[in-house]
Amino acid sequence: MGSLELFERAKQVLPGGVNSPVRAFRAVGGNPPFLTRGEGCRVWDADGREYIDFVGSWGPLILGHSHPAVLEEVERAMRDGLSFGAPTEREVKMAELLVEVVPGVDMVRMVNSGTEAVMSAVRLARGATGREKLVKFDGCYHGHSDAMLVGAGSGALTQGVPDSAGVTRGAAQDTLLAKFNDLNSVAALFEANPGQIAAVVVEPVAANMGVVPPAEGFLPGLRQLCDRHGALLIFDEVITGFRLGLGGAQAYFHVKADLVTFGKIVGGGMPVGAYAGRRELMRQVAPLGPVYQAGTLSGNPVAMAAGLAQIRLLQERPEVYGEIETKAERLAQGLRQCAGKYGVPLQVNRCAGLVCPYFTAAPVRSFDDAKRSDLDRFRTYFHAMLARGIYLAPSQFEAVFVNASHADEDIEAACAAADAAFAALAGAESGSEGAKCGSFGS
Ligand SMILES: *Cc1c(COP(=O)(O)O)cnc(C)c1O
Repeated sequence: MGSLELFERAKQVLPGGVNSPVRAFRAVGGNPPFLTRGEGCRVWDADGREYIDFVGSWGPLILGHSHPAVLEEVERAMRDGLSFGAPTEREVKMAELLVEVVPGVDMVRMVNSGTEAVMSAVRLARGATGREKLVKFDGCYHGHSDAMLVGAGSGALTQGVPDSAGVTRGAAQDTLLAKFNDLNSVAALFEANPGQIAAVVVEPVAANMGVVPPAEGFLPGLRQLCDRHGALLIFDEVITGFRLGLGGAQAYFHVKADLVTFGKIVGGGMPVGAYAGRRELMRQVAPLGPVYQAGTLSGNPVAMAAGLAQIRLLQERPEVYGEIETKAERLAQGLRQCAGKYGVPLQVNRCAGLVCPYFTAAPVRSFDDAKRSDLDRFRTYFHAMLARGIYLAPSQFEAVFVNASHADEDIEAACAAADAAFAALAGAESGSEGAKCGSFGS
């Protein structure tokens, strides 16, 4: 059964035909391919088409699909039993590994998703400080817990408003909205809410508004503001963790957070999240302390096996990060060249292996800048790339994930497809020979 038929069936029994909204292709139109298999940086769909995957399950698969060493560990764990709901050695090994590689972390609690990690870290921050308010940044995503599904209202620098039906005003009222890369907006919130802010939660590289790296001084400035006002700094490293490097954003930008949250890569493709911090904070978590948090499947041995195997492989080959960065830069340059060739206004942001082309002439340093991207152009570009076998996230406001499994030829193939895509955008003929090298399976 092909993708289209599967999607029709799916829509009868799953809202929008999906289990997570972005997969439904609403932002780009058209129908999503149903994927059947992945190997390295390649995925295949139900129609037998082959793609070069620049999503990697939204980040987790930094070594590509079906890495043999990861699969081997998973199979071994599976045969020992799928779940016990009791302590097992693999979760100790995972925590020990995180303590070893993540700066400032003495203790870890494993959970089942990034959403859960952030929700729990926020509860811990509130419990530890005895304060109730939070600062988050408009356009940053921290999962779908009520306190995090809050956006800026029409006014700037306001109390947040629910970003989803079903989120109560009560849940939203303690979440304050600041602007990413704007320290003044954070300082103003601290001044307006003295002694009330438990934590500032931030994606150290904003990677859910496309890719917006922190401006010089932004993260250190957050550190200073939090210290001055007795608030905790939470780095939501669900994307940046083990992607910027093994030590995540703290090591990459040389800024210490009080609590860090993980998801995506930490699970190696399995549903895993984690939050972590120094001992005196983590000792507040049950059963040691008064902050309750639990999980039937938390620390699941099969999930731990996948995450452990992947992080260990990264640890054994630290040079992988430089290689990813080089390939990502080549892709970014390729996109810029294509845009220049056809006169399409484009900004390409990149941080480590995270890349995002924005269809605008002005630099993108904030969520407001990102929203100025021409979404019609993004749609055209997206479908032109997909038609040439390049599988990208179906939204302007997501990152392109370059992984260890991409070979130089895969980057070249993406650039060649981009040449044709930008030609289509400009209404011109693609002048590049390589533009025809989209990879289609039989
Ligand atoms: C994906 C993401 C989350 C949520 O993780 P889930 O596993 O989807 O619940 C939280 N924070 C950031 C920065 C993310 O990118």
